[in-house]
Amino acid sequence: MSCCGGKIKQELGIIPKVRKIKNIAEGFAKLAASRAGIDFKYAKERFAVCQSCENITWLKDVEFATWLNENKIEVLKNLESLETLSDLPIKPHRALTRKYCLKCKCNIMAKIHSKEEKCTEEKW
Ligand code: SF4
Repeated sequence: MSCCGGKIKQELGIIPKVRKIKNIAEGFAKLAASRAGIDFKYAKERFAVCQSCENITWLKDVEFATWLNENKIEVLKNLESLETLSDLPIKPHRALTRKYCLKCKCNIMAKIHSKEEKCTEEKW
């Protein structure tokens, strides 16, 4: 038994999840700034790669919410490594959809704006 009853180890395990939440928040904040006219060159370069990637899917909010609801326990347990979960459904571009990555499950427009995020397939 450790001196702290495993508390330090448990808290260290939370750090990647906190980092992921910070990245998600940063991504959406910078996406909003980008829509307001601020230029993020690295996001444009990343987007060009994502746009031609076979791992892009187009989901309506309700479709993503359904996947999230079906996988909520695994999502919470693996927030920092969502690529380990089964892929998102593959859907074509339609009206009222958003771009997601099949592999990391991220909203692509937010992910590309988060400086610390990396493509899980190492494409950028
Ligand atoms: S994050 Fe990577 S794997 Fe996902 S769509 Fe973009 S380039 Fe493809």
